[in-house]
Parts: sequence; C-alpha cells; structure tokens
Amino acid sequence: MHECHGHVAMDGVNFSAAMARHRDGVDRDFVRRNLKACMDAGISFFRDGGDKYMVSAFAKEVAQEYGIDYRTPVFAIHKEGYYGSIVGRSFQSMKDFAALVREAKRLGADFIKIMASGILNFRTDGEVDGPSLTYSEIREAVKIASDEGFCVMAHVNGAENIKNALSAGVKSIEHGFWPDSGVIEYFLQSEAVWVPTRATVRNLIGCDGFSNDVLNGILKAQGDLLREAYEKGVPIACGSDSGAINVPHGRGAHDERSYLNELGIDPERGNEKIAELFRIK
Ligand SMILES: [Zn+2]
Repeated sequence: MHECHGHVAMDGVNFSAAMARHRDGVDRDFVRRNLKACMDAGISFFRDGGDKYMVSAFAKEVAQEYGIDYRTPVFAIHKEGYYGSIVGRSFQSMKDFAALVREAKRLGADFIKIMASGILNFRTDGEVDGPSLTYSEIREAVKIASDEGFCVMAHVNGAENIKNALSAGVKSIEHGFWPDSGVIEYFLQSEAVWVPTRATVRNLIGCDGFSNDVLNGILKAQGDLLREAYEKGVPIACGSDSGAINVPHGRGAHDERSYLNELGIDPERGNEKIAELFRIK
C-alpha cells in the first residue's frame, strides 16, 4: 500500500495543536504512533509533504523499523507571504530558494516540495486563496532543484497554476483541484503524476462549518477530469494528505484508494512512478 502524500507531523485532527507538539523538539512518540498506524494499515511506502520542525526528517531515520520506505522533502518551500508557512520555510529571492534547496539536501531530503499556489476556498466555488508562483519562478525553482539532483513535488490548485507547474517541469501535481480539460495535454507532455488527494475534501462532507454543496462541487469538477485524464494515460497516484483534518494516518490511504477506485482509477502505475522519481539522483 502506498501513501504518496502525507504529513507525519500532523494528526488528522487539529494541525496547529499537532504542530505545537514539535515546537520545542520533535515529539518522537507521536511520530512513532503515526508510523505504527501506517504499518498496521499495510503501508510500505510513504512520501511526506514536509513540515517546519524537522519531524519528517526524524521519521525518515526510524521508518525502516516499521517496514516503510519513507521519502521526505524535510520542509516544503513557499514564497514569503504566500501560503505554506505551516509546512515549511520561505524564500524571497531565487538566491534564497537555492540556499533552501542546499539546506534540504544537507538535511537528507529525497526531493523538493514547493507551494505553487494557495489552498481551496471552501466558501465559494472555483476559487483558490492567495497568490501563486509565476511560470518563470517555478521554472527557475525546478532548474535549481534539478541541478542538485532533485525532482519537484508541487502543491497546486487552479487550472492555470497547474499548467504553469507542468510546463515548468514539476514531476507531481499535488491536489490539482479546479482543473480544466486543457491540463490533460500538459500532463501527457510533462509525464508528471497527479496526486489528487480527494480524501482532504471528501472526508469533510458532513462536518460542521463546511457546505456539502461546495465540497461536492469541488469533487465533481476534479473527478470528471481525473477520469478523463486516466483514460488518456495520465498516471494518478494514491496520496491522501494524511494528517489533514479527518484524514488519519493509515486509514487515509485506504480512503483515497477507494475514492479513486470509484472513478474507475487504479493508482498502481502512478504509485510506482512516484516511488521511482522521488529519490535523489
Ligand atoms: Zn500536504
């Protein structure tokens, strides 16, 4: 079983409370409990999406005790003032970005994770909150990462942002909500994998404070495109974003796989491609 997108630093309940555990040093028992939950759920591959307190770096040190091939970017990288401070570190200039890539390498990263856009706005349809990186910023980021032997995992939502990330050379699109049919050709050209993390939205249905209509709209728009992309040959991988609200470690991957199966998608080829690409060259 593959979990191609998770955050071992978080607990699936409350991310600020989970992060607060690690502020003065990694809560090692907490990490071990999460790795155990993954092992018990049959997960043997886990690709982390990063955190700001070296939690996933610790997880990587001990993951083999749980039989898990664990990959991490250590921290995710976002532009100062943009979305992403919860999972990583920020840059202002591309020179800062290059320094962060070298730092990630020093800390044992397997790949680079960038935050290329904001997150979904759950109050309105079709919106992504906050500014996004430009094509040239992503292009430059991919080049810097690639010169250090890394490929790039990109958090990205919104059709234009997805296209920018794909033509700039990222190797996986994380989330990819609010796509349009044009993104499929970009996927096919770039040979990138789509990790749609449907569990992050699907598992909010019925929760207080969220509109089921909005959630279902987000899922339907992505689901229609996923089905079409899969039929045309885009590799789609199983990553639940476990650690996010209502997406517990272990169960998250099973939820995500069943949501993909409902669309007629078998994530096996996508999973294998993630495992093959997301290691340092
Ligand atoms: Zn994530």
